[in-house]
Amino acid sequence: MPTAVESSNNATLERRLSNLTVQSMENFCTVKGIAGISDLKKKELIEAVIQRANPEDIEEFLSAHEADYLMESFRKAVKWGKSDLLVHISGDSTMQEFRAEFNGLDVGLRRVFYIDFRNIDDSRKIRTACECDDSQGRGLFCPHQMAVLLRALAEKKFKLKSWKGPMTSELRNSILALFPDA
Ligand SMILES: [Zn+2]
Repeated sequence: MPTAVESSNNATLERRLSNLTVQSMENFCTVKGIAGISDLKKKELIEAVIQRANPEDIEEFLSAHEADYLMESFRKAVKWGKSDLLVHISGDSTMQEFRAEFNGLDVGLRRVFYIDFRNIDDSRKIRTACECDDSQGRGLFCPHQMAVLLRALAEKKFKLKSWKGPMTSELRNSILALFPDA
């Protein structure tokens, strides 16, 4: 019987794995020599990966996918960044309570996203959320939040070194290439 910590780790892993396609999980299993998974439904496939793959391999696999998603968000946000109306940062935003609105109409999206970079219970952590499915349903740092982050750095509302949200060295280098004094 798994302990409470193991159960909660597994729930997190399940959620992160569920963001991946069946195809990429099948590829992972093939590379790692996990057999007999070809007819499994997505949920069963996720369970098989958790039960049979090496935890470090799973972490590496997930981190690589999440880093790719982050760079994809960055590329979209940079493209959108050309429109000044897209991201509006609320005038009373501070490092502790940072509010911005992403107006997707400018890029042909029909929704308006409200994004809070809000410090909830720990001054060392900045929490972020967006109303889109990638953020709410999948727990990802979506392109809308990335667009807000880039605008905040461009307007010097944030310093990059204060940022405690999702980051990779590739993303950091790309941001610094855009804003060398961020
Ligand atoms: Zn979003």
